Amino acid sequence: MLGLYSIFIFYTHIKKIMHCFFHRRYVIIVMYISGYALFFYIPMTMKIAIIGSGPAGMTAAIYAARAGLRPLIVAGDSPGGQLINTDSVENYPGFERISGVDLMMNMMRQAEKAGATIVYDKVVGIDWISGGPFKLPLSSGDNIESCSTLIATGARHKYIGCEGESLFSNRGVSWCATCDGPMYRGKNVAVIGGGNTAVMEAVFLANFTNKVFMIHRRDSLRADNFAQKKVFNNDKIELIWNSEVLRISGSKSVENIEIKNRLDGSITSLDVAGVFIAVGTEPVSDLVKNVVCLDEDGYIVAKNTLTSVPGIFAAGDIVSGSLRQAISAAGQGAVASRQIEEFLGTR
Ligand code: NAP
Repeated sequence: MLGLYSIFIFYTHIKKIMHCFFHRRYVIIVMYISGYALFFYIPMTMKIAIIGSGPAGMTAAIYAARAGLRPLIVAGDSPGGQLINTDSVENYPGFERISGVDLMMNMMRQAEKAGATIVYDKVVGIDWISGGPFKLPLSSGDNIESCSTLIATGARHKYIGCEGESLFSNRGVSWCATCDGPMYRGKNVAVIGGGNTAVMEAVFLANFTNKVFMIHRRDSLRADNFAQKKVFNNDKIELIWNSEVLRISGSKSVENIEIKNRLDGSITSLDVAGVFIAVGTEPVSDLVKNVVCLDEDGYIVAKNTLTSVPGIFAAGDIVSGSLRQAISAAGQGAVASRQIEEFLGTR
């Protein structure tokens, strides 16, 4: 009877025990008192917790794992970060052309193989007592305790703020051509923006849509020359200069956009089934806005990955003044790991 009861208790704890086994975050103590099995989960203080799983976080994880620090990465809402939405990366050294998904999957596999642990959850707060460990509550209700924390939460897509943008979000308005583009095969679509992302989205969409209108607010693109040529040489892409989107409209999904020429004020209407917004990004820094120093745009002020709080480090697109490229984020991740090693060594 007692045996059966113990099995039942053990079964109820199995999920947590498996979690402990794989994530190595708790020490489990089982005590039998008067025939009852009592389970105690004592949280282990990790040496490094990494928040964010883009190139900065994953590179830091690879370096820290190889240094024997057994880092724990909390992957966040979109494991792999922004590159997961990138069709092809052509400027990451060592790869002439690789999809964003493949690049990030490679990094995640490499980190795990080196000894890092990835937790598919989201950090919802950072608490600490001066000199003490950081406490990171997760959205699942779980908690992480760590001696140091690396913020590598990156950036997210910006909105243009026109009428209908939120209303038709996921009903024709998208921020990811790789994810949603194939739904618009043979149709007309619009891409908003003039940077490298907008160019890549437009070129990708031109492969299978009927026509791509690329709408930019100025008379020259911000994208680099190499990318610009791809647009100028593609006869399925029509550039509409000096224009802004006033309204996105339709019934069940997007059918039409109204655009205004910023030079002469004229308003025209375009029939499109999809609108892809690619007007840059903003930092994902809500988590740390009352924790570390931020610049006026909300990016973390960090010197050589060191933030204003000892023990909290920052790397990648979240850092003020960073180049916002996968390779520079990866480089900062490596620097952060080294800095954290030094920080831990001096404690
Ligand atoms: P970005 O370079 O900041 O370009 C944003 C574009 O959107 C600009 O053309 C900007 O216009 C326009 N824009 C901004 N706010 C707008 C608004 N409210 N309404 C209309 N248009 C607006 O952003 P990104 O293209 O996402 O690129 C971000 C970084 O990643 C860049 O450093 C880029 O080089 C890099 N990247 C590299 C690759 C690659 O494979 N090499 C791919 C993607 C991104 P203005 O030009 O007038 O400011």
